[in-house]
Amino acid sequence: MHNLFVSSHPLVQHKLALLRDVHTEPKKFRQLVKELASLLTYEATLDMVTCPLQVTTPMGNANCAKLEEKIGLVPILRAGLGMVEGVWELMPTAEVWHLGMYRDERTLKPVAYYNKLPVEPRVTVCLILDPMLATGGSAVATIDILKKWGVKKIKFVGLIGAPEGIARVQEQHADIPIYLGAVDDHLNERGYIVPGLGDAGDRQFGTA
Ligand code: URA
Repeated sequence: MHNLFVSSHPLVQHKLALLRDVHTEPKKFRQLVKELASLLTYEATLDMVTCPLQVTTPMGNANCAKLEEKIGLVPILRAGLGMVEGVWELMPTAEVWHLGMYRDERTLKPVAYYNKLPVEPRVTVCLILDPMLATGGSAVATIDILKKWGVKKIKFVGLIGAPEGIARVQEQHADIPIYLGAVDDHLNERGYIVPGLGDAGDRQFGTA
């Protein structure tokens, strides 16, 4: 599918298997979320723009490259929080902009309850972090906000996606690339991904 990148990396697949396991404890679960976020971000940043840089080594000058883009991480609360550390290990200067969304029970539409984005974006690329791309409602609402904010390059990075959520993002924002570790079978009637891993927030924060 256009703009959908599902990792086939053996490390990603191995760690996803551990993550899904119902017996995996929150401490190990958090560690895996962090590691998977690093691995998937590595794949999602393949096309980041660099500029040339000369570095003096003990032996002479080396022609190198440095990242030119200013990167913003946008974790969707609360489950996306656990992905930030893993990405920060790769890009310690990335800015983190939190967006809180809840689903209005009457309209079933996502509502932003926390949004402290400055008037003008200071970043050139935003990575939206959410472990589970389920209905796609929060992802679409977040992309809407970031586009209105003026960010030109936006990518979604998640661990597991449902076909329904992927289709929704692609219908409404065909230009936004989606990076995932796996695509699962379907959503159940409560909006959970099957087989998925259960509630990614509860499993990280020990609130299951
Ligand atoms: N959010 C989760 O944490 N898990 C799902 O399966 C779907 C949405």
